[in-house]
Amino acid sequence: MRSVDDIEVTGRRVLVRSDLNVPLDMSGSGAITDDLRIRASLPVIRKLSDRGARVIVLAHLGRPKGADFAERAAGGPSLAVVASRLGELLGKPVAFAADLVGPSAEATVDGLEAGDVALLENVRFEPAETSKDDSERSRLAARLAGFGDLYVGDGFGAVHRKHASVYDLPLRLPHAAGDLVIAEVAVLRRLTENPARPYVVILGGSKVSDKLGVIGNLLGLADRLLIGGGMGYTFLAALGYGVGHSLLEADQIESVRGVLAEAERRGVEIVLPTDIVAATHLAADAQSVVVPADAIPADREGVDIGPDTRALFAAKLIDARTVFWNGPVGVFEFPAFAAGTRAVAEELTKVDGLTVVGGGDSAAAVRSFGLAEGAFGHISTGGGASLEYLEGKTLPGLVALES
Ligand code: ADP
Ligand code: MG
Repeated sequence: MRSVDDIEVTGRRVLVRSDLNVPLDMSGSGAITDDLRIRASLPVIRKLSDRGARVIVLAHLGRPKGADFAERAAGGPSLAVVASRLGELLGKPVAFAADLVGPSAEATVDGLEAGDVALLENVRFEPAETSKDDSERSRLAARLAGFGDLYVGDGFGAVHRKHASVYDLPLRLPHAAGDLVIAEVAVLRRLTENPARPYVVILGGSKVSDKLGVIGNLLGLADRLLIGGGMGYTFLAALGYGVGHSLLEADQIESVRGVLAEAERRGVEIVLPTDIVAATHLAADAQSVVVPADAIPADREGVDIGPDTRALFAAKLIDARTVFWNGPVGVFEFPAFAAGTRAVAEELTKVDGLTVVGGGDSAAAVRSFGLAEGAFGHISTGGGASLEYLEGKTLPGLVALES
């Protein structure tokens, strides 16, 4: 992949696909609740602007619904709020276009001087952006290509999507990878090519069905897999334990048994919780007790790993030289059930080696505990993209940038 340092950008119109998909406060204000992705996108935007490019940023926000641009724009969410935050962080105004390929975008792009930065409205307001129909995406990409001389792919969180602004557009313009994409891919390479050992992977989160693919591929890479969170109960069920009302994907039990057998065959150690925090129901103030993992009461649900498991996971991390963590091991959003996830995060900061946190909720957990981001080797901005990379899939956005 070429980087932006390999291309001449002065005075040229550069289309930058960024990932500015930030969480918004949906309870009223619509304000940005976490601007990590905007900050992670800044370096390449600033670099291009400093070098005198006319920078046109493309990004998506949320999953807007509706038949066409007008319907989707009416339902929101608009990137206008992101344009102001981006401007604050850049220290200069960011021109905002109220459409993507319409008159506002045309006027905005025409008005750019060298060094100026513009953001066009939510690419997903155009249904063609995410269309499965190649020709629909291609038509949108052709119109976007008219705005730029060059393309820079920097939206790591979207590189696993075969979307017009991620895949079709770079095929039409001279292109380079942005600094964020280059940094993220470099870390993923270290996780997949000759990782320092022992290599420990911690997986949690809610759905085991989302993660079976990556687990399958990790069995060929990692030395140990520590499993917690909602997905852990399907593993406990696969051992024949009752899990009460805990999250369970009964239709995945057979596949999980297959994973356990394959791990044994390959000599990969699978570490499951030995004790569980079992609550009466999922609420911040629910009453809870710690029970052995094979004795979860029928009327309770597992919401966190227990203290024995915290110590067990710590012991399994102590000698690690490479760690990848995806998915909270408990319902960390409720302080009463955050101890397991906090313990995992804290243990990671002590590891003498490369530690990588992937996944939006896991990264949010790290920040909610007030741990310094610098105490981790890398906190990825793309959960889905990094999981698909580790799963061994080809990512359309990277394929296009490598072409
Ligand atoms: P990430 O975004 O880091 O990839 P996921 O989206 O896979 O993580 O999962 C995060 C969610 O999993 C969190 O909202 C958390 O509350 C939930 N979770 C973790 N443990 C449990 C559990 N025991 N029961 C229910 N949900 C859980
Ligand atoms: Mg998530």
